[in-house]
Amino acid sequence: MYTSVCKHCFKVFKTKFRTLSCNDCRSKDSDHFDDIESYLKVFPNSNALQISEALGITAYEVLKFVEEGRLHVTKGYFEQIED
Ligand SMILES: [Zn+2]
Repeated sequence: MYTSVCKHCFKVFKTKFRTLSCNDCRSKDSDHFDDIESYLKVFPNSNALQISEALGITAYEVLKFVEEGRLHVTKGYFEQIED
């Protein structure tokens, strides 16, 4: 079990998987991730700040997706993970 802090509401919760989103925020989390994914298709090599400004998602949250291993960063830029 992991103890995590939700990146959306900052609630502390326990989880079996390494995730930084609690159950209450899960749908918001996947919405935001979808937005980031489609943004990166159009604008690859964007950095966290550009994504944050374009989508209205905090840079903190964008960086947490990296911590979760859902986004990759090379030299400060984000890359889509190859399928
Ligand atoms: Zn939450």
